[in-house]
Amino acid sequence: MDMKMKMGRQKNIALIAHDNRKQDLVEWVKKNKDVLSQHFLYGTGTTGALIAQKTGLPVRTYKSGPLGGDQQIGARIVEGDIDFLIFFWDPLEAQPHDPDVKALLRIAVLWDIPVANNQASADFIFTSPLVHEEYERLIIDYTKRRIENDK
Ligand code: PGA
Repeated sequence: MDMKMKMGRQKNIALIAHDNRKQDLVEWVKKNKDVLSQHFLYGTGTTGALIAQKTGLPVRTYKSGPLGGDQQIGARIVEGDIDFLIFFWDPLEAQPHDPDVKALLRIAVLWDIPVANNQASADFIFTSPLVHEEYERLIIDYTKRRIENDK
């Protein structure tokens, strides 16, 4: 059966950026500091530490991305503890942990969390009134759908 998962008014937001995009994410966070200060922030090791240092906002950090940080954030999404993902990945450079990046993006889609992979998406998402409201995400029961489709 499909499931609903509730997000509270205060969101748990994961922030990740590859090296060539870190400065862009820091600038975006600075621009949106007032809104972001009303929520809980998480990040992969280097990104999270940089954002905390440059903006003064509290950020709970996990391991660095190449050392498993993306996977840790993916696991927190599955556990229902992270409900937003801002991930500025580098479209022009292969990463040693590309499989982890793909896995994280897949998990974000599966658990129906809002994802922004560039500034414009992040701007549009964060100007939505839903950012400040409770919201029920739809968790699709793919197993049931597959069984029904096989009938
Ligand atoms: P980092 O990891 O914040 O530790 O650099 C980001 C990533 O590459 O996923």
